[in-house]
Amino acid sequence: MPSGSSKKALLKHLPKVDQVLAHSEVQGLFASVPQLTVKRAVRDEISHLRERVMACQIDDEKKLAVDVAADGAVRRARELNKPRLRKVINATGVVLHTNLGRSPLPEEAIRQIALAASGYSNLEYDVSSGKRGSRDDLVEELLCGLTGAEAATVVNNNAAAVMLVLNTLAMNRGVVVSRGELVEIGGSFRIPDVMSASGSRLVEVGTTNRTRLEDYRRAMGGDIGLLLKVHTSNYRIVGFSEEASIDELVSLGVEGGVPVMVDLGSGCIVDMRDLGLSHHEPTVGEILKGGADVVTFSGDKLLGGPQAGIVLGKSHYIEQIRTNPMKRALRVGKLTLAALEAVLKTYMDPATAIRNLPTLSMIAADKSSISQRARRFAGRLKDLPAKVSFVTSSSRVGGGSLPLAEIPTVLIALKADGVSAQILEGRLREQDPPVVGRIVDDRLCLDLRTVSSAELKDLERAIRGAVLDPAEKGN
Ligand SMILES: *Cc1c(COP(=O)(O)O)cnc(C)c1O
Repeated sequence: MPSGSSKKALLKHLPKVDQVLAHSEVQGLFASVPQLTVKRAVRDEISHLRERVMACQIDDEKKLAVDVAADGAVRRARELNKPRLRKVINATGVVLHTNLGRSPLPEEAIRQIALAASGYSNLEYDVSSGKRGSRDDLVEELLCGLTGAEAATVVNNNAAAVMLVLNTLAMNRGVVVSRGELVEIGGSFRIPDVMSASGSRLVEVGTTNRTRLEDYRRAMGGDIGLLLKVHTSNYRIVGFSEEASIDELVSLGVEGGVPVMVDLGSGCIVDMRDLGLSHHEPTVGEILKGGADVVTFSGDKLLGGPQAGIVLGKSHYIEQIRTNPMKRALRVGKLTLAALEAVLKTYMDPATAIRNLPTLSMIAADKSSISQRARRFAGRLKDLPAKVSFVTSSSRVGGGSLPLAEIPTVLIALKADGVSAQILEGRLREQDPPVVGRIVDDRLCLDLRTVSSAELKDLERAIRGAVLDPAEKGN
């Protein structure tokens, strides 16, 4: 172990930035990697070497040679130059995986995004009159046609939609919500917090497990701007429970002259039973038919579209929402609208929607088709020093949607010789593209429900890399 003074002596051998930059391997990078990135990589590599000397991990000046630093810098520069937002293979079986980007889009939506992105468009331009148009016009007709709503507008996500509606219809006024519906969706979206940020006042009624219409009625005495029903997307209150129905809230709202809003969370257009699920989830159309004044939901949950918040409802409320200055701050861009229009059009034929929207077709895939794909795919792995087996399990819808829905599936369970499930799981994440699986009973498991056929080649390559690559990463 080097003493303080020999550390000092070693540090004198650290290569200089200019020496490393002049190295032929580093010079070769400049054709494909921007200058500033290469320089940063060189400086980072030299600091890394300095830290290793200080930590007594280097005790030989040979390890500080320009060649060594150049090697490290080249690796760093290539890594830095990769896009940060990268493709990942989702083998978790969670269809709407919020951390992995929720809904993949259908091909038609991707084509429309490319078209809108590559040039000018009629985003806010009425081509027939030559005058200014509204970006909402691009999808409003489709949204109304599919749901029976009078009017529609679109914002950045459902959290924005809820915030905007509360701010528009209930600023400085009370919003009545059941204590059983004060939800938290993924950490930063909590109904009480969104409420206070919107400038409205939370009026909680009932109890966690039981809230009756009478509870809402008693709250109507105060200054109330809105009755809010929130879909308990990611949990269920079961057992001794009771809630007021939307119908009941609507009649109470009409009685008191107060609008009723429903935050649907996922919002499905087609009946989930058509996807083979046993649970009936009311569609957006059914909720609107029940008389709700405003309904909001996400574009990238069960709809299977781009991230967006969709606001539907009675014309005079939507008009107020549209003209709120906050709407301008929360509006969506042309790429979102291009994708959303394509996805909504798919729903004009529900059978096509189930076939062509990746989110819906992944949910609808039955256990035997997943099993078949799993067995066929496993055939490609026969030569590997690993044991492959099949486990009956369930996939999840995810994204805080249908938390109790268990979709029967068959997992590929992988056990590599001499490698723990944890190590294998980590190695799969280090592949390019990374593969995210799950560990069940100390076996690494992959659910092909969420892996497209086009991704199987990459998945196979990643598994080979993870099983065969014994090299320790790092130093
Ligand atoms: C998911 C969800 C939200 C948030 O929607 P985002 O599109 O993620 O902003 C709000 N409310 C409910 C009930 C939800 O399920």
